[in-house]
Amino acid sequence: MFDVVEFRKEFPILSKKVNDKPLVYLDNGASSQKPISVIETVKNCYKNEYANVHRGLHYLSNIATEKYEAVRDKAVKFLGATSHEEIIFTSGSTEALNLVSYGWANQNLKSGDEIIISTLEHHANIVPWHFLRSRKGVKLVWVDPDEKGQISFDMIEPKISSKTKMICITHMSNVFGSILDVKKICKECAERGIITVLDGSQAVVHLEIDVAAIGCDFYTFTGHKLYGPTGTGVLYVNKKRIAEMIPFIGGGEMIKNVSKENVTYNQSPFIFEAGTPGIAEVIGLGAALDFVQDLDRQAVLKYEMAISEYARTELDKLDWLVKHCFHKDNVAIFSFSMEGSAHAHDIATILDANGVAVRSGHHCAQPLMNFIGVPATCRASLALYNTEQEIDTLIQSLKKCKKLFG
Ligand SMILES: *Cc1c(COP(=O)(O)O)cnc(C)c1O
Repeated sequence: MFDVVEFRKEFPILSKKVNDKPLVYLDNGASSQKPISVIETVKNCYKNEYANVHRGLHYLSNIATEKYEAVRDKAVKFLGATSHEEIIFTSGSTEALNLVSYGWANQNLKSGDEIIISTLEHHANIVPWHFLRSRKGVKLVWVDPDEKGQISFDMIEPKISSKTKMICITHMSNVFGSILDVKKICKECAERGIITVLDGSQAVVHLEIDVAAIGCDFYTFTGHKLYGPTGTGVLYVNKKRIAEMIPFIGGGEMIKNVSKENVTYNQSPFIFEAGTPGIAEVIGLGAALDFVQDLDRQAVLKYEMAISEYARTELDKLDWLVKHCFHKDNVAIFSFSMEGSAHAHDIATILDANGVAVRSGHHCAQPLMNFIGVPATCRASLALYNTEQEIDTLIQSLKKCKKLFG
């Protein structure tokens, strides 16, 4: 059994008051709070074990390098990858997806080739493909979700042509909490020679990931949503794709030799990690991966389903609230609005006065907002530390909104 009361004690910030009210933090889809183990690991790095990595031959550099590279091994295990060369550290999903665009697609796609993109995508999995279109003349082919916020392979199939080279799709929607059957999508795409790029930014927080079982070519996630430090992320690159990639950022670390005429490169992953990385942050990410791995993930998922179910049921009772793609299979993320009365920002402001933190806006998913026909929504996104009592506070605060705005 998962004990949420005990679990909350790991997160110092949760006992804060905001606006004189106990904090109810429901903005986890944007970033999650950090447990003591992550905070202490970052602190310990700077206090006791800090120097630049991969360069010095001195004591501190060695220990920092050892700790840093140990995180790569943890990430290999966490994602079910096969070796450390498949794990590239980035500053987050955004950089990771840009690296796929510049490092792989720019090299391997040509004018007229088609990329399938879903309307569910975060801008981080849209804009790099717009860039590629400008540079290379590739065509972006969009696939829309259904009323559950789902995209199945059956919906993708009609979009596939002989020119389809790649599909860029989220594993879990950051607006609806819908989880896509990426295993099926990747299997079908692989059979057709289509490269698969999965955005796992939300999915890694809620699901156990096994990239080998999924069978994708690329998988990305961002550390700060997974209880880890900001400025950390991972790009998983299937071994088969590594030799097809070129580096995107040049500089120190990524080279073997540099002369006035020539550069020879280091191997993966270092070839893709130019410059001094976020050393303490990555080491902190290691603590976050340990933290998540140490949980009983089955019990955790059960708790998340239960709390999601509770939130959905309670929100459903507010018949004046417009709910966007609420579906029983969707997890942890709820988007709603009060069309015709309050703007999403007004709702968020009233909630904030009651200590409740939600996100309002387009959630970096403007094509999706256009698709559902609203400029913005409010999004309550849950983490493991959220409780039924906090959902009740959300509901009470929304009722206050309704009173104010009618
Ligand atoms: C947050 C998020 C991103 C971007 O992550 P960054 O940490 O800002 O790089 C990309 N995709 C999805 C689905 C997200 O939720």
